[in-house]
This record gives sequence, C-alpha cells and structure tokens, in this order.
Amino acid sequence: MKTLLFGGLTPIHDKLLKAAVENLGYKAEILPQPDMESLKTGREFCNKGMCNPAYFTIGNLLKFIRKKSYETDISREYLFVTIGACGPCRFGMYETEYRNALKESGFSNLEITLLNQTKFSSEGTIKLTKQFIYNLMKAVMVSDILRELSYKIRPYETKYGQTDEIIKKCVNLSYKTLKKSTKIKDIYPMLKQVKKLLKKIEVDYSRAKPLINVIGEFWVQTTEGDGNYNIHRWLEKEGAEVKIEPISGWIEYQLFSEIEKTKLEIKIKGKNLKRYKKLFLLKGLLDFYRCLYESFRRIFADKLESLPSQELLWNLAKPYYDPFVTGGEGHLEIAKHLYNIKFKKAHMTLSLKPFGCMPSTQSDGIQTKVISDYPETVFVSVETSGDSEVNVKSRIQMKLYEAKKIAKEEYMQALEYMHLTKEKIEFAVKAEKKLKNPFIPLSKNFTLTAANFAEKHKKTIRSLYGRSLYRKNSART
Ligand code: SF4
Repeated sequence: MKTLLFGGLTPIHDKLLKAAVENLGYKAEILPQPDMESLKTGREFCNKGMCNPAYFTIGNLLKFIRKKSYETDISREYLFVTIGACGPCRFGMYETEYRNALKESGFSNLEITLLNQTKFSSEGTIKLTKQFIYNLMKAVMVSDILRELSYKIRPYETKYGQTDEIIKKCVNLSYKTLKKSTKIKDIYPMLKQVKKLLKKIEVDYSRAKPLINVIGEFWVQTTEGDGNYNIHRWLEKEGAEVKIEPISGWIEYQLFSEIEKTKLEIKIKGKNLKRYKKLFLLKGLLDFYRCLYESFRRIFADKLESLPSQELLWNLAKPYYDPFVTGGEGHLEIAKHLYNIKFKKAHMTLSLKPFGCMPSTQSDGIQTKVISDYPETVFVSVETSGDSEVNVKSRIQMKLYEAKKIAKEEYMQALEYMHLTKEKIEFAVKAEKKLKNPFIPLSKNFTLTAANFAEKHKKTIRSLYGRSLYRKNSART
C-alpha cells in the first residue's frame, strides 16, 4: 500500500488529519510547513504568473520528494493527495501545475489524488467514502479547537513557553485517540482530558492586549510559517492577541454557498426532485457539521465562541459584494471585516493577500468602500510576496499602534466605569490562584480580554484588595 502524502494546513491540522486517515488503515506522511526554499523551488518549476500559495505548496512537495528520492522510489512509495476545485481563481489550475512541475522535475510518475472541495468527490485511487469524510471532519474540528485555544491562552501565559508545551501534549493525545478511534464517545473524554491539561497553564488576563483578527486568502491566513512571514507569532511578540479563523468556518461557507446556489437554481430552472434532494442533503450536512462542532466546542464554552452564522456573514457582505461571486474567500473577507466592526469583535482587522491573488485583489477594492462607510475601523491589507517582509511588517506596525491605543482607551474607560484600577487588578491576580485559571469565565461586553476579565471578577478583585488594605492597616495599629 502506498503512503498518502499531504499537507499545507497548520501543523495541528496536518497531524490530526494524518491520525484520521491512519484510523482507516492508510499509511500517511505529512509534508513539512512550506518555507522560503519551497517558494524558490516553486518559482523555478511552475509557470510564471501563478499566485504565491501555488509556488509555496508545489515547491514544498518538490523539495520533499527530491530529498526522499535519495532513499526510496518515490512513485512506488507515495501517493500525493491534495484538494482541488474547478476555479474560478488559480486554484482551479493547481492540479495541472502540480503535474507540470512534477514532470519538469523528473517525477511525473508520482500518483496524485484530487479531493474536489466543491463537488465533494475524489479523482484518483482514494475513494471519498462517508467514513473518510466523517473522519476528516472530526479531525478538522478538533484541530480548530486546539489551535484557537492556543491563540487565546498563549498571550496571557505567565510562564513563557508553557502553552506551547501543553498544546503539544494535547495534540499528541488527540493524535493517539483519533488514530485508534474517531467515535464521538471517545472524542468527548479526550477533549475533557485536553481541558484538564490546559488548566495547568497559569494566565494573567489583566494584560491589556489589542485583539487582531487575521483574515484574507485561505492559505495565507492559515499557514504558520514563511508563507505569511510567521505573522501570527510575530503579532503575539508585538503584544497582540490574535483572533484566528477556524477551518470549520471555511467548510461551513462552502456548504452554505452550495445551498444558496441550489436555491437559486430551483428559482431559475424550476423545481425538480434532484434539486430538492441536493438541497436537503446540503442543509442536513451543514446542520450536522454545526451541531457536531458545537458539541465539541461546548466543552470549552467558557473560552470559545460559536462560529458566526454563514447567513449573517452572507447578509453583511451582500450590499458590498455579490455573495454568488466565488473564488478564494468569496464574500468572506468583506463579511469578516464588517462582522468585526458591527459586533466589536476585534480592535484591528489584518487582511493577508498573497502575491498574484485575484479574489483578494477584488476584495481589497471593496474594502476601501467599507473603510469609507466605517472610518472608525482599523484595517490593513498587505500583500505577501515572499520578499517584502520588512515592508509588510512595518505597515502592520503602524496600524497596530492605532489598535493598541484603542485597546488602552477601552481598558481605561472600562476601569473607570467599574471603579477599579490596574494596580488593584494586578494585585488580585497575584494574590488569588483561581484568577489565573485559563478557563475562568469572562464577560462578553468588551472587545478587550482584560476588560472582560475585570468586569466578570470586579467583586473578587475589590474584596481581595480591600482585605489586603485592612490587614495592612491593622498591622500598623
Ligand atoms: S484565492 Fe488567490 S491565492 Fe488562493 S488559489 Fe485563488 S488566486 Fe491563488
């Protein structure tokens, strides 16, 4: 049996997807995260005029198999699995590009299986069975949850590196569990165990950090490496809390768009059984996905919010961007920006656009209209070409400065309204162990985590501070 070779998402997703396919009896291996060498290799072997994710991902595959070819017969050992679609952007050309680049580099015999994301079908040896899809879905959900938790907890850890260390243990635990069983009855206890492990991390939620939502083209906002200049980690180092976009949101977007397209088809072409069957199947799948994700998320309800409804995002974007125009993130880039503005979900929206990306360029044009309608928004869109890291980061830093100022003002106003001071809160966090629990409940009235923490625990903070004053005064008298 050939080993399935795949990759291209985050390290957590790749590892848990590996467990999900191994659970079905396949052998699997993941590609490393794409780096600058991958980009160079991609540019060397791909057609000119492709977008950056194509260069990074295709170059990454070539780099890997070139190295491996010294040890083994690549075409006998591996079967490359990738996601494809019929476009309308360059994504539709990826398969051809993969094949061309493999031919150019002397590996034309490497077998490729394509999982079609819009038709929910496969082309090649791998059969996309119900169990296969179900396993992948669950692996994506667990990965989304672990990744989001890491981004919510890490900026507040009191011991540097503790979150990464424990998340690594959680990923290993999830990998072992999913490889053995993907049954829901085994996933729930695993997630409860994950929560228990994460509770060991000590946090200080009194640190006022601006919340930055990273959106943009799917691959570039998801990858964690040179493909986006390690932007998530860099933002954390610059003092921000990063709000990431779960891949489950992307899956729901695909399903919801198909539902709306089918409804339109019924309206235009007329009612028939086949169309209705398709509509009910898609609706059922979307409801099922959402319910299952929610049931996993609820274990961490005190930390993770539900995914925004696709209907809401669709309606938010509609006055600006025709949601039936697909390709890339479609209307999502506009919708997510508006969602952040209208529901105060982030202090700043950072949109990443890979070099040569057509849909993101289109969205950027429309973002200028959004900015003129909502001048209070802090928004920056940057292009990641692979060789402009300093420029990109310096542009983000300028906007980050504004976001930090807004976050600080929000904190000061919140403290004034609650009759608290920074000193009182910091004192309480140091004095009371319970306040250092990463899963301590937070209010939802502010954008800023520190303000939500202060509001939820104002009574405890006041009483701890009051008691310490009383003790000090009694000791003096
Ligand atoms: S969305 Fe943009 S970057 Fe992604 S495949 Fe399409 S053209 Fe390329």
